[in-house]
Amino acid sequence: MGLEEKLPSGFLLTTVEQAAGWVRKASVFPATFGLACCAIEMMTTGAGRYDLARFGMEVFRGSPRQADLMIVAGRVSQKMAPVLRQVYDQMPNPKWVISMGVCASSGGMFNNYSIVQGVDHVVPVDIYLPGCPPRPEMLVDAILKLHHKIQNSKLGVNAEEAAREAEEAALTA
Ligand code: SF4
Repeated sequence: MGLEEKLPSGFLLTTVEQAAGWVRKASVFPATFGLACCAIEMMTTGAGRYDLARFGMEVFRGSPRQADLMIVAGRVSQKMAPVLRQVYDQMPNPKWVISMGVCASSGGMFNNYSIVQGVDHVVPVDIYLPGCPPRPEMLVDAILKLHHKIQNSKLGVNAEEAAREAEEAALTA
């Protein structure tokens, strides 16, 4: 059934929370942040063929202060971990993280002392994207799943944010 048939009077009722979620999900700004081979696929996703502009997010920001999405694209070395954390801390709230590829999510094939065995040891992760590397279609799918999460998140301090803050406090302790 089309929207016009559902709404013959032309009125659309919603809540402030739903409206804010809709606006937020339609204007996500990713930080420019690539770590390894997965970043090639992330850059491809930002090109014309996959047209991220459809989702209101074609602009990758050069400054973390203008970004609200970190796509961790590639393995995270121990030396890079504090830098990654600093970039994350510089992003304004609310903010989200996609862990792109098996290396970012679990260390992948790099099961050794120099690689962080999962970026969730450094920052809280909203979406884990499998693959080596994930194709652009998979990243688009992860972004749409994140949109769903953003759309349904609560305004203000909620249980999820409180849990995240507690998690961050534990990470930095
Ligand atoms: Fe490279 Fe594969 Fe690791 Fe991505 S998951 S950083 S493509 S080795």
